[in-house]
Amino acid sequence: MTGDEKKQLLQFLDLASDFLGTGYRGEREEYHIDDDRPRDVAGSDSLEAIAEEVRACQACKLCQGRHQAVPGEGVSQPLVMVIGEGPGADEDSTGRPFVGRAGQLLDKMLAAINLDRNTNCFIANVVKCRPPNNRDPEQDEIAACVPFLQRQLALLKPRAILTVGRVPTQALLGTAEGISRLRGRFFEYQGIPLLPTYHPSALLRDEGLKRPAWEDLKQLRAFLNSPGNNSGNIGEVGSDRGTSSAEITKPFEEQN
Ligand code: URA
Repeated sequence: MTGDEKKQLLQFLDLASDFLGTGYRGEREEYHIDDDRPRDVAGSDSLEAIAEEVRACQACKLCQGRHQAVPGEGVSQPLVMVIGEGPGADEDSTGRPFVGRAGQLLDKMLAAINLDRNTNCFIANVVKCRPPNNRDPEQDEIAACVPFLQRQLALLKPRAILTVGRVPTQALLGTAEGISRLRGRFFEYQGIPLLPTYHPSALLRDEGLKRPAWEDLKQLRAFLNSPGNNSGNIGEVGSDRGTSSAEITKPFEEQN
């Protein structure tokens, strides 16, 4: 409801209570409602503003146990936005996404197709605060947090989204299908192509998932390099939009 709509509703309720009470219309000060700022319109939004709001956020119970919220990090015009589940202990203590063991593997996975959080990616999570004992984020927590992600996406406008793991994939696609069925297929979120793959922690637990994850990454690379997609200015998957890159040869699981 916009500020104007709220004002009209309040005026109507006043009028109704005047007529029911005294039968006459009473004198009142005008309402001033200034809460209909276009907060989620990219033109008036910024990554820093979102990060500040995330750090101050108390919209769900996860704020109670956090040491640091983790808004996300990366470049402002990424080729790819990587979306994980939620911060773990390392992320909670540093305020940075994917910095623990899984994060190190994620960096390798991205590097295998010349993607990197410092040059052409942005990495964030579907919830920005750590769920206790690394449990899955709950529906109300995801619902409270996802507007931050949507605002980030509206600003970042990545060429593609890579969701890692079941939780962010199901949350964004609104499905209960398992990750092994969802991975490796392109979907769309906010008009942006979205490719799900396995979470790096799953690869740490089960080596056998590395090969299919590598297939997914190659698909992402092919998508980013496809002529129809790059509108003449992406170039090869490389150091940034519009730049070309070296050949990608080694799957991440063969790198040291
Ligand atoms: N796992 C996630 O899903 N996100 C992080 O930031 C770290 C680990």
